[in-house]
Amino acid sequence: MSPFGKAATFSAFVIVAACAQNHDLGFQDTPMLPGLPFHVHDDRRPHPHVVTPAAQPGGAPSDAIVLFDGKNMSAWISHHSNITKGGSTGAPEWKLENGYMEAVPHTGDIATKEKFGDCQLHVEWAAPPEIVGNSQARGNSGVFLASIGSGDAGYELQVLDCYNNKTYVNGQTGSIYKQSIPLANACKKPGEWQTYDVIWTAPRFNDDGSVKSPARVTAFHNGVLVQNNYELKGVTMYIGQPFYKKHGASPIKLQAHGDPSEPISYRNIWVRPL
Ligand code: MG
Repeated sequence: MSPFGKAATFSAFVIVAACAQNHDLGFQDTPMLPGLPFHVHDDRRPHPHVVTPAAQPGGAPSDAIVLFDGKNMSAWISHHSNITKGGSTGAPEWKLENGYMEAVPHTGDIATKEKFGDCQLHVEWAAPPEIVGNSQARGNSGVFLASIGSGDAGYELQVLDCYNNKTYVNGQTGSIYKQSIPLANACKKPGEWQTYDVIWTAPRFNDDGSVKSPARVTAFHNGVLVQNNYELKGVTMYIGQPFYKKHGASPIKLQAHGDPSEPISYRNIWVRPL
């Protein structure tokens, strides 16, 4: 028993418990953080918002914008392709069946109606199960992380069947087309569903159109890191030097390449603006 009696013991317990509770949330008797109005353990810092993860890995978290859930293509519009010359501005002409959408040859690309800046993007795709063609003519498509104009204008994360299929390395699966070779070839067999998980930092521009900060991308292919905070030199070009041209928030675009192989398929696409 405390020499000060039960009441004092209880009071001390309450104070200790209160301090412990406060320390759980942080405290302020520590140095200031450089460049910030907060102490090292500051309890005044705003908490991140709560996000409920999907029940299944790869599913859309509670705060994601679902771009394609297998039921309809209402988040997308047709987009002119400068490769196949198909596509316009109407509804997508891609095929919707069995929970996925398929790029019908010569119907053009598709682009989201909504525009995005910095974002986290999840895309699932499958190359045609029947192996036809080689190099770039085999399940060619692409995820344009920002579509900034007609045709292929923008920044393409290449989609291609590179399972036992060699092509030029800066055009293979997981490349930032013609700019950045992927860090690994993580391709699954043709016909198997594959994932892209991307962190996109959009470029910033000054009022005069000059680049304030270039675009950056981190990308995982089937959970394997293929682009590690790569700083883009500009738009991705089939031939020519990349360059930047001032733009703002932009649609995400999926390419219908029109190579002779069977069409590529997509499912489960969602985005979290950052
Ligand atoms: Mg492509």
